[in-house]
Amino acid sequence: MQVTEDIHALKIPFKLRVGPDKTVDRFVFAYLIFGDQICLIDSGVAGSEAIIIDYIKQAGRDPQEIARIVFTHSHADHIGGSPALKKQTGCNLAAHVDARPWIENVDQQYAERPIGNFYDLVGGSVEIDSGLKDGDQVDLGDGKTFEIFHTPGHSKGAISLLYNKDRALFTGDAVPKPGTVPIYEDVATSIESIKKLKQINGLKVLMASWDDPQFGAGVYASMDAGLQWFQQIHEAVLAETAGSDALDPKDLCARVLKRLGFPEIPLVPIVVTSIGAHLKLLDKQQLI
Ligand SMILES: [Zn+2]
Repeated sequence: MQVTEDIHALKIPFKLRVGPDKTVDRFVFAYLIFGDQICLIDSGVAGSEAIIIDYIKQAGRDPQEIARIVFTHSHADHIGGSPALKKQTGCNLAAHVDARPWIENVDQQYAERPIGNFYDLVGGSVEIDSGLKDGDQVDLGDGKTFEIFHTPGHSKGAISLLYNKDRALFTGDAVPKPGTVPIYEDVATSIESIKKLKQINGLKVLMASWDDPQFGAGVYASMDAGLQWFQQIHEAVLAETAGSDALDPKDLCARVLKRLGFPEIPLVPIVVTSIGAHLKLLDKQQLI
């Protein structure tokens, strides 16, 4: 799907295993920027390289023109296609310095953040060529640049990228969509990251990895909605912890999700961790 003159969005489906015999359908967006060269923002799951290459050929370009992949963060559904693409094209791989360890050593990522079918989703470890930091500029040639914003919270080393030419912002998983399952490491940091992005003036497009592109006023509205969702989750945690001293983390997570209106969903560790992230903030009513 074409988003702007240069930017194309690819919606990539995959299955996440959440129990011995249970999978859920998920999707992730990867983005292509067509300039003199081709730049990718994220690379989907393992196998997505075929979808990406196909799309590039359909657009009349040569996959060998892929010069760079910038990762918004290290999770499997963002890096999976990159080992194959690196091998085929020799492209430059870039990520925030704090995201580097989990991309360069996926066994370490799995040990520290286990998810069901991790090894089906991740294409293997790959070496990062360019370590990025907040405030860095990435030169795409032809006068086009990305500005890098460090936006941790969902994941350490997460970045958002401002494509200056189009005032288009790529946010990875930093801005949650209301009503989606909570997945983050630190809620206060997640909120700070969104507030930082809201300070960027004149944004015309917002492209998250788990929502359709947002345009115009919808850009800032989706950031506000993400903040409100964090607050809503926090209020559910406050309500479920009121009057009880030591709740089992899984039990608390089940109660909070029920209060938020989710049907019975499997309590995978990454969701239990997300709800648990609120426990150090129980003295605060307002997070946003
Ligand atoms: Zn993620």
